Amino acid sequence: MNVIIFGPPGAGKGTQSQNIVKKFKLFQISTGDLLRSEIQNKTSIGKEIEDIISKGDFATDDIVNKLIKNVIFDPQKKNKLIFDGYPRSLSQAKNLDLLMEKSKQKIDYIFFLNVNKDIIIRRIEKRKILEKRSDDDLNIILKRYDTYMDKTRPVLDFYSKNPNFYEIDGGEEISIISSKIEQILSV
Ligand code: AMP
Repeated sequence: MNVIIFGPPGAGKGTQSQNIVKKFKLFQISTGDLLRSEIQNKTSIGKEIEDIISKGDFATDDIVNKLIKNVIFDPQKKNKLIFDGYPRSLSQAKNLDLLMEKSKQKIDYIFFLNVNKDIIIRRIEKRKILEKRSDDDLNIILKRYDTYMDKTRPVLDFYSKNPNFYEIDGGEEISIISSKIEQILSV
């Protein structure tokens, strides 16, 4: 099965993805992680990506779509994908549809972790202490939230009519959210 975990920054997409990976033997595809590894490995696009992420903007669709394409066409990962932080815009959502069709796969579940702005700010501030991500500064968090509302939120309309769309209260305890997701995936 292939799964999308969708929601604002700080909604718990990464945490929930990691849990699903363990329980259902899927591969977590985090575009944030893929982008950060380009920075760490100092690739030709690493510096450009670093500047974008540090401002709370989005990497270009060109860059992200290229990174995601390699993963989708990896035979080892076929039908075992969990997308965390992708798609983040309507054009990425349409690109994903296209790539899934070309690779003869489909999205089986879409989870929307719904969380309000106050909880997001609280959680990311806490994560800043634990993970030391340079984009977890308060001003950048607010910018990332605005970018989400502007570019990512429209993707919700694109998916919400899908029969496999599930909205989950992302403000709940991690374990409660995990068990709700597991229950749906186990049917
Ligand atoms: P994340 O780890 O998912 O919170 O992503 C961290 C940052 O990476 C985001 O704030 C964006 O700057 C960038 N990023 C991650 N995924 C995408 C994507 N699908 N499209 C564009 N930029 C992305």
